[in-house]
Amino acid sequence: MVVLDGKETSAKIRAELAEQVKALKAEGGKVPHLAAILVGEDGASRTYVNAKVRDCEEVGFGSTLIKLPAETTQEELLKAINKLNNDEDIDGYIVQLPLPKHIDETAVLMAVDPKKDVDGFHPQNVGRMTLGLPTYIPATPMGIVELLRRYEVPTEGKDCVVIGRSHIVGSPMSILLSQHNYPGNCTVTLCHSRTKNLEEICRKADIIVAALGRPGFVTADMVKEGACVIDVGITRVDDATKKSGFRLLGDVDFDAVAPKCSFITPVPGGVGPMTRAALMMNTMKVTELGQA
Ligand code: NAD
Repeated sequence: MVVLDGKETSAKIRAELAEQVKALKAEGGKVPHLAAILVGEDGASRTYVNAKVRDCEEVGFGSTLIKLPAETTQEELLKAINKLNNDEDIDGYIVQLPLPKHIDETAVLMAVDPKKDVDGFHPQNVGRMTLGLPTYIPATPMGIVELLRRYEVPTEGKDCVVIGRSHIVGSPMSILLSQHNYPGNCTVTLCHSRTKNLEEICRKADIIVAALGRPGFVTADMVKEGACVIDVGITRVDDATKKSGFRLLGDVDFDAVAPKCSFITPVPGGVGPMTRAALMMNTMKVTELGQA
């Protein structure tokens, strides 16, 4: 059994990107500048955004963090987005999700200039991804694909079950793994809250991607011997023994499932760091894709 180490792999990716930035600077090229908009005070969102800013610094990208209060109106947020769309120095940006309830997420994502949409959430970029055209790929599925590639996990012809159909993880994951590519060429089954016989479907899978947000959902009896299991889930639970006051739980019962697997990702240290690395990889692409 091989543990797919997202922490180590993402550190390698950042080091590679830092080298590319150095080379870009030496040629006198423009170093990518990533901006992030954070609305409100959600603890997890703040942690994620701060981590993205740190990653930019490590890699050598420019970074700008725009913090807006929780009471920001949709109109004010759209104005801030419009400003970034027209700011020539900003090559790409993200709007950290989730947004406060009074803001329409779709209206916001539609307002992002697709050329600067490094999260790959704009319909134009989702369409390009679906057609296999060059574009920004949503960071979590892109990070997973990169992890599979770097560990040379066999995917061709494999039966793959993706649990969860969100627009940011499950749905794009199912599309990428079914494409005529490596990693890809899988026969994908996309499961969700209304799926019948999910356990049985999982038992036949060579690859399981669990992205539903229910701690320990995937148990050993649902996993075939030799399967590859990718755990996307992150659920925070209170833990007074931790400095942060919480610990992170994945969607897979790791201790029981791991002995049956050929490959498995841990939580933390698996998909999470790869998601951050994928955002940096997308940001590196801005000069190329921003002009497309
Ligand atoms: P979401 O809540 O938008 O979607 C959950 C999906 O799971 C839905 O499509 C739903 O149909 C499905 N689902 C729910 N209960 C189910 C059940 N009992 N059986 C089968 N399917 C069920 O979630 P999301 O944004 O896709 O995130 C999923 C998990 O991944 C969360 O824990 C989230 O925190 C985590 N996440 C991790 C990363 C990362 O970088 N590691 C990134 C994004 C999301």
